[in-house]
Order: sequence, then C-alpha cells, then structure tokens
Amino acid sequence: KIPRNPPPTLHQPEIWSDQFNDFICKCLIKDFELRPNVQDLLQHAFIKQIAGREKTLQKQLMELIDLNQQMGVIEKTRYFALEALDDVDDLAILEVLDENTITEQLQKRYTKDHIYTYVGDILIAVNPFHKMDLYTQQYSKMYIGAKRTANPPHIFAVADIAYQAMVSYNADQCIVISGESGAGKTESAHLLVQQLTVLGKANNRTLQEKILLVNSLVEAFGNACTVINDNSSRFGKYLEMKFTCGGTVVGAQISEYLLEKSRVVHQAVGERNFHIFYYIYAGLAERKKLAHYKLSDSKTPKYLQNEHIKLVPDIVGSAFYKEQFEAVEQCFKVIGFTLEELGSVYSILAAILNAGDIEFTSVASEHQTDKSNIINMAVLESAASLLCIRPDELQEALTSHCVVTRGETIVRSNTVEKATEVRDAMGKALYGRLFSWIVNRINSLLRPDNPVCLEDKDLNIGILDIFGFENFKRNSFEQLCINIANEQIQFYFNQHIFAWEQDEYLNEDVDARVIEYEDNRPLLDLFLQKPMGMLALLDEESRFPQATDQTLVEKFEDNLKSKNFWRPKRVDLGFGIHHYAGKVIYNAAGFLAKNRDTLPADIVLLLRSSENDLIRKLVTHPLTKTGTTAEYFVCVQGDSGGESTHHPRETTNMRTQTVASYFRYSLMDLLSKMVAGQPHFVRCIKPNNDRQAHKFDREKVLIQLRYTGILETAKIRRQGYSHRILFTNFIKRYFILAFRANEEPAVNPETCAAILEKARLENWVLGKTKVFLKYYHVEHLNLMIRRN
Ligand code: ATP
Ligand code: MG
Repeated sequence: KIPRNPPPTLHQPEIWSDQFNDFICKCLIKDFELRPNVQDLLQHAFIKQIAGREKTLQKQLMELIDLNQQMGVIEKTRYFALEALDDVDDLAILEVLDENTITEQLQKRYTKDHIYTYVGDILIAVNPFHKMDLYTQQYSKMYIGAKRTANPPHIFAVADIAYQAMVSYNADQCIVISGESGAGKTESAHLLVQQLTVLGKANNRTLQEKILLVNSLVEAFGNACTVINDNSSRFGKYLEMKFTCGGTVVGAQISEYLLEKSRVVHQAVGERNFHIFYYIYAGLAERKKLAHYKLSDSKTPKYLQNEHIKLVPDIVGSAFYKEQFEAVEQCFKVIGFTLEELGSVYSILAAILNAGDIEFTSVASEHQTDKSNIINMAVLESAASLLCIRPDELQEALTSHCVVTRGETIVRSNTVEKATEVRDAMGKALYGRLFSWIVNRINSLLRPDNPVCLEDKDLNIGILDIFGFENFKRNSFEQLCINIANEQIQFYFNQHIFAWEQDEYLNEDVDARVIEYEDNRPLLDLFLQKPMGMLALLDEESRFPQATDQTLVEKFEDNLKSKNFWRPKRVDLGFGIHHYAGKVIYNAAGFLAKNRDTLPADIVLLLRSSENDLIRKLVTHPLTKTGTTAEYFVCVQGDSGGESTHHPRETTNMRTQTVASYFRYSLMDLLSKMVAGQPHFVRCIKPNNDRQAHKFDREKVLIQLRYTGILETAKIRRQGYSHRILFTNFIKRYFILAFRANEEPAVNPETCAAILEKARLENWVLGKTKVFLKYYHVEHLNLMIRRN
C-alpha cells in the first residue's frame, strides 16, 4: 500500500531503483500533479522500459526531474516508493535494519541478477558465477562522471568515485577489495583497472594496453587452481595506477605480498601448481621445444603430479593451456620484456621442474649418519644445464653442506631427508625470486618517465586484492599469515568506518548515536605485539637450533594470555585462534621450518656462479626497495618497537631473515600506503560453495555479512556522517554555489549553512570546526559544482 502523503523528513532522498521507475510510471503520475509535459515524457519512458530499456529510462527521468524543477515532489515520493516496493539498492536506507532484512534484500536483488548493492558508500558485490552483460563499453560510458544515484550500483561507479575524488581533491585514493576465496575480488580488481584506464584516457594506447595486461601476467605466475577457486590468487596484490594531476593515466606499479611458494613443491589433494607451469608445458610442446628445455613428453614431473591430471593429454594436449601460454608470452612482449629474458624465465621454470625430479638414495656411512646419493644423474645434469651451473657442484650442494667450527670449514653429508629439503628449498626460492623479479621488471617498465606534475608529484589510485580469510580442515603457517593480514585489513576498515567517525562526533560536539562494533584490536595485539606477540615468539623460537614445533606451541601456550587463543585437547601441535571472522584451529607442524625458510648458503653461492644473468641477479640483488614504515599500523600500547626499517631482503644474510618478520614488514608497508589515500571499500560476497549461478545460500551469506560488519556498517551509514570537512575547505570548494565568484565569505558556520541551504540540502550538521555531511550530500554538491 502506498501512503498518500510524503513524510516530513526524508532519510535518504537520493535513491533510485528499477522498481521505483516502474512505480513512478504506474502510480505517481496520477497521484501527483506533475506538469503535463513531464507526464508525457514519463509515459514515453515507461513504454521504453517495457521494451527493455531500463537504463535509458533512468537517465531520462533524472534529466526530466532536473529540468522541471520537480525535485521536491519526486524526491519525497522516492523514499516511499522504495519502502513500499521493498527493494532497495542501498541498504543504508532500509527502515528495518537487521541481518535478516539485509540478507533478504540481497537475495531478492540477486535473483534478479542485481549483483551489486550499496551500503551507503560501500559496494557489496555478490558473485554471480556466470557471465554478466554488465561490463560493455556502453556501461563503461554510462558510469563516467555520472551522479552515483543516476545508475544502479556498479563496480564502475566505485572506479568513477575514486577517480573523481582524486582529481577534485588532488589526493591519492585506495580501493580495498575484500571477501573470502572465490568471492570475486580478482574479477572486481580487473574491472576497476579496466574502467580506470578508460577514465584516465591514456593518450598512448600502448600504455593502456600494457596496464590492462599486467594483471594477467602476474596472475599466470601467482594464481593456481584450488579446491575452492580455479583461479585462486596465491599472493596479495596492491596495484597502484599513476595519474597526472589532470587525471591522465601515466603508469602503474604493483606490490606483491606473501606468495604461497610451498605450492611449487607440493599441492594439497585436488589442487594444482601455479598456472604458468602448465602453460609453458603445453606451449613448449606445441612448439616442439620440450626437449630444448629438457622436459619429458611422457613422464609427468613430480611437482605437477596430481591424481586428477595426466601430463598427456591433460596438460600437453590442452588447447586452453596452449592459448594461455601464447597469451602470457604476448603479455611479456607487450609490456616490454626482451626475448632473452623470456628464454631465461622458461629455463628457470623448466629447471625447477627438473630439479624436482632429482631423487636421492641413502648410503650407509661408517663415520656419520646416512649419506645420500643421487639416483638419476641425468635429471640432475638437465637441471644444472638449465641453471647454467656445473652439475658436480649442484650434486655437492644438494648432498652435503659446509659447517664452520672454530674457524675450520668442515663438509658434512646430507641425509636423504635433508637433501630433499634442500632441493625443494631451491625450487621454492627460485620461483619466489623469479616472481618478485617479474613484478619489479613490470614496475620499471610501467614507471612514469617524467615527473608528471608541476609539483613533481603524481597521483595514484591503489587497488588492493588480497587473499581472503581462510579456514580449512588443516590450517598451517600460510593460513595464519593470510588470516593475520585479513585481521589487519578489517581493523583498518573498522577504524575508518567506526572509530574515527565516532571520535570526530565527540571532538566536534556533534550529537550522533554511537554504534557498537566488534573491535579486533585485541587480536592484532595477540599477533603483532612485541616481544610477546605470536609472531615475535615464533621468531624467537626460530633462532634456537634445538627448538621444535612442539616447543613452539608450548611457548605460545605459556606466553599468550588472551581469550582468543587456546589449546584444543587431543590435537597434537594444535592451537586455536578466535579470529574476527570465526574460530580457526591451526596445526603448528612445520611452522619453524616454514618461518626460517632457509636457502642453504651453498646453494646461494652456487647459483651466484651461474652463467645466466637472470639467475645470478635473483640470488644477488635486493629485489625491492621501499621506504620506512610504521612499526604497527596503529601504535599499540606496550609495543616496544625496535624493528629495523630497512627492507628485510636487503640484508643479504638469507639465514636470519624469517618469513614472519618479512611478512610483518610488508604488512606495515602495505598499510602505510593505504592510509596515505582516501579509502573506498568493495565487499565481495560468495553466495554458495558450489560456484553455481542463481543459488543463494542464506546461511552462508549471513555469516559473511556478520563477520565483515555489514550490518553495523549499514547502521552507521544511515545515522552517521561519512564526510567531515573543515569549514575552510568546505567554503573554498563550494562557496560559488551561494556567493559571487569575487566574494570572499567569512569562514564561519553561517557561511557553510548558507551554502547548504542554497543547495537545498537537509540533515547536515555543523560541528565546531567541520561540516558533517552524508555521502549523498557530497555527491549532490559536486554535481552542482560541475554544472556551475
Ligand atoms: P581468491 O581469494 O581465491 O583469489 P577471488 O575472490 O579473487 O578468490 P575471483 O577469482 O575473482 O575470486 O572469482 C572466482 C570466480 O568467480 C571467477 O573465476 C569467475 O568465474 C566468478 N566471478 C567473480 N566475479 C564475477 C563477475 N563479476 N562476473 C562473472 N563471474 C564472476
Ligand atoms: Mg583472487
């Protein structure tokens, strides 16, 4: 039933939905006395809608409304229309705001293939699991410089908002995409890059093309098929697009985090190695180049062995892999890698596969514990020749190691177990360093040539696509790191959405209701505090040669005093963490080895003798350079500090650099980049575990909504003021809406009020020094400025 009289105050007058169009056309023309020409046009538009042209309709309506100054009438009806029709594209305006209503709304929209929904200025994207006709050039155009409410919610709108904000305020932006594995983060990141290159009007087509290829290239090396996602990102990625002050795209820069190197040598049941291995196998087979790279055309390399996949025909015969190989090679070439570099990349990948096949056998020895011998020397020779090193030296480095005692160097034999460990460590290290080298090379090829702005400062929009929260049957060190990263990102989100906003209300004496939210700070303390946080304890234990995973868990138990940590009974080496996103049981088996991640010095020295430039480079040069970073994203009490600020990899001593401290470093580095920009959030939601289109598992969605704090976000977005602008800045930017260009109005609340009243806005608040606005106020003001 539709109420006759519009309410005196409107919560949110700026919302559109398709249903509302329908509604207007059907009912309101009769109920309100719109001017006859408006009626005509609306009816005309309605006919068009029937013909399936909803988007045109929406646009037309907006224009009409502006033209005919019927804003008041129409706006007032919108609110009711939406409520009455019970479908909203912004959850922040829902009258009843609880978990069930929100889930229901998302489900309703999802069944109509409306995968995007706003919560105020945050975008929720529910994975459609089927190809959508939403990303064409036509859509791209529709979202450029448009008022957000003029179009249905869309990922392109987020790109546009970030871009416009960057240009208008001359400020860096950062888009944080979060969600669990398979929720659609990487796809969203691609779409953002796509739209941002359009917005950034790269005047040189090659640059545009290069930027678009960057993702595909790094994903070939950093993504893999997992049980959850066929194209799962096994690393975190922060892609910064660089613009001039005028908003022209001039370059890009990627940072990578925590590549899951262990995948190179071992994959869980039903999972695969990194894509690139399959691509090169199929591609080189097609070119009859397998022999050149010493790859067998009949026997599957051990690192690719998997019960579900056979070398022939699944890999070698796969048309898909062949195509991907060609595509990757094309990416390399377009971005600017040389043919020589390409050859080296293939050699290193082939060397890793060959080395993985080296087998050892135990030989009894009189003096020491068992020695190991190599069974298949031919394979070792292949690996050595691909690495351009001497086979006898490789043999020695795998089967023995040097120890220095009292100034004397003694050679000790490696057991089979130890030799296997060294072999795998070499494979992982080579791959990890190759990956970082590719990323660095891309960065140098896509770095803007000249200082791009007068002030010698470029602007950038960063896009964070980082692995989502993970909770498997068995969770190891990798899951712990991934989940800590998510914990930190959630903290950042909370700070932005809740904490800082509420602090400002207090400081500015603004009366706004305080929203309760789950503060995950105690968890960050548990992990990151020094010297008693989990990572610090892990590092400490890693320094003791006699330590075992058992002593490590005991150390955790003795020192971690938190209700979020516990030792489950009857799970050897097990410990539990109650993360913001749920309880996870970890198994500490292998933690120390994974954290130490040592590449024996003998192998490093050997690889430094390689005749291949690239291989030498991988083991000699520091790979990346970054500035100093905060010790802890938000300074935490009792955090004594003391971590060095130089890049960990610059310390050439590869024995002391632990994964935990490098991880900690890169997390801080990432956050320092993120806090430098104004954030925008995209929350990806996975509607079911079966990757099925049109299937909405309410329970599953509800859990995700809960742990990402969407409900609280919706509340604060409805009640809160997402924009707090200093009087001076506000007046500087918007005075033209109420004053003449040559006037210089005083900086005081009255001037601000005059501007806001002139813009016919309601529900804003003036604090002591700042104007408090809702996100749609800002949109409205900016649109007026652009028209002015
Ligand atoms: P991970 O954390 O494992 O990397 P992710 O969140 O990055 O996961 P994606 O790889 O982006 O997940 O998405 C998984 C799959 O879902 C995609 O391969 C694609 O099939 C589908 N998908 C995601 N977003 C969309 C979309 N907008 N349109 C169509 N399909 C999509
Ligand atoms: Mg991904």
